Amino acid sequence: MSQEAKNTEALETLIKVAAHGGPILPFDRTFSLAPVKPVPGTWYFCVDCSSCRRTSPVARDFSGGRLGKPFSGEGIKALCHFCQATIRARGEQMAPFQWA
Ligand SMILES: [Zn+2]
Repeated sequence: MSQEAKNTEALETLIKVAAHGGPILPFDRTFSLAPVKPVPGTWYFCVDCSSCRRTSPVARDFSGGRLGKPFSGEGIKALCHFCQATIRARGEQMAPFQWA
């Protein structure tokens, strides 16, 4: 498993626990994440791509949007789902979005 896949798995585990009331601490560094293949109707934490201006998914939101925007601190690095540009975002920029 790549480091990116491990980071994504760790982040999604954190989100699952948080969806049941667990804490989310500020990110203390930047985590490179694996590409997400979004499924329509499913919730994701997403970030805006500064290259194509679209909203790209970075991790599943197992709370169905109920967590709001729980992240802070350093953040994530991921490839844009649409244009493959590298996106860097702080935790605060990760917002829930239900894929259409
Ligand atoms: Zn893009």
